[in-house]
Amino acid sequence: MEFFVRVPLNKPSTVEVRYDCACGCKPRARFERGSSQAGFEHCCCGRVHFVGDEAVPQLEVYLRDRRTSGKDSRSYALSQYQVTAPWGPVPVAFGTPDQLNVH
Ligand SMILES: [Zn+2]
Ligand SMILES: [Zn+2]
Repeated sequence: MEFFVRVPLNKPSTVEVRYDCACGCKPRARFERGSSQAGFEHCCCGRVHFVGDEAVPQLEVYLRDRRTSGKDSRSYALSQYQVTAPWGPVPVAFGTPDQLNVH
């Protein structure tokens, strides 16, 4: 899994992390240094990534909420990665559902 890390113009404390999804999309998520909130994108195909210091627990909560609210009953395989921001390592959590949507 390869992630591309970019610092947006005039936002030196933010990273944008994207990957080339197998469905053809390029999902991206932003994280601001020190924020308690991970950024995320849930791709049209069902894959989802969270970027931030709390990426792993926040992805788990997000998927649990979708399950309990009946929005998404799929089960997800979770993996954990790390990217390098200008200020140091940032966790990336990645979920792949057992059934993918068509792009
Ligand atoms: Zn996708
Ligand atoms: Zn797509």
